[in-house]
Amino acid sequence: MEGDPLLQLTAPLLDWYRANGRDLPWRRTRDPYSIWVSEIMLQQTRVTAALPYYLRFLQTFPTVEALAAAEEETLFKLWEGLGYYSRARNLQKTARIVTERYGGRFPESYGELTALPGIGDYTAGAILAAAFGRRAPAVDGNVLRVAARLWDDPRDIQNAAVKKEIRRRVEEAMPEEPEAIRNYNQALMDLGATVCLPNGAPLCEACPARTFCRGRARGTAQSLPVRAPKKDRRAEERTVFLLRREGKIALRKRPDEGLLAGLWEFPNVFGSHSEEEAASVLADWSLIPAEWGKKLTAKHIFSHVEWHMIGYSLKVTGEGLGDFFWADRAALERCAVPSAFARYRTEAKKLLEEAEADAL
Ligand code: SF4
Repeated sequence: MEGDPLLQLTAPLLDWYRANGRDLPWRRTRDPYSIWVSEIMLQQTRVTAALPYYLRFLQTFPTVEALAAAEEETLFKLWEGLGYYSRARNLQKTARIVTERYGGRFPESYGELTALPGIGDYTAGAILAAAFGRRAPAVDGNVLRVAARLWDDPRDIQNAAVKKEIRRRVEEAMPEEPEAIRNYNQALMDLGATVCLPNGAPLCEACPARTFCRGRARGTAQSLPVRAPKKDRRAEERTVFLLRREGKIALRKRPDEGLLAGLWEFPNVFGSHSEEEAASVLADWSLIPAEWGKKLTAKHIFSHVEWHMIGYSLKVTGEGLGDFFWADRAALERCAVPSAFARYRTEAKKLLEEAEADAL
């Protein structure tokens, strides 16, 4: 067990990757635009879930210029279900900068890349290595875990100084040859995702580091990496309204800033309100309840906050109707409604289908 196991891993890891690496469309290209799109999608989404989104996205926006010129509605619609819409918004901001400032070519320096919206250390490293064959590490949670286990390192991997050190040491361990560089980042991530698994026991018998991994030798691997306990998520109660009139349902746009900015939502207010209190909210909106339907509860977990929702479905009349966008079924399909409202969206779709059938 001499030497740094991360350095020892480089050659066997590349052999392992040749035999076991996942064949994914963004790995078959050197186009920085496609690689960047895939990396942004994969930040909070699993590979199998991201794959159809990636293919549709590139079909709709095959170039950075096409993305720069996209309608926000089209972009959000393509992103619907992936969550974290700020990623989509930043994609477009960056596409516009790359188009206008760099003539449609991605910059090839770490400093210029990380100055672009939504591109941090990890994404810059992934683009530089995969598109341009530069020795730039892409250190994600998978890589941090592998490193902590290889070294039997008990430090908190969320700590900025620890992360920085791991990044530097991964860079030192990277190979020299451009094709090997392209594979190295992917290989290390694949090893973390498929062998040195996050939950449960790592599959050490199948690992190219099994003979020199300190975590394995000392029996500590499964308890690593150490993470500081997460802060509790804030719970927020909301009352959501499925307001209907004449076969249409009310939607409104969220503000341009903050959580889920600029997306469509069903009208809602803070707090968990009884039917009586809900009626007074409607009165504030100059709406008169005409026919109450069923109550629907739902929960959605964001990274820092949980929404606990109670929903009222009802027909309304009144002067306040003009304050909402009234969507028929086709319009509801077109509008990007975040998955936080998934349960209400399904119910809305059902109600609109019933209304269509009744109108026949
Ligand atoms: Fe992870 Fe086991 Fe491989 Fe060590 S030997 S890197 S613990 S899978």
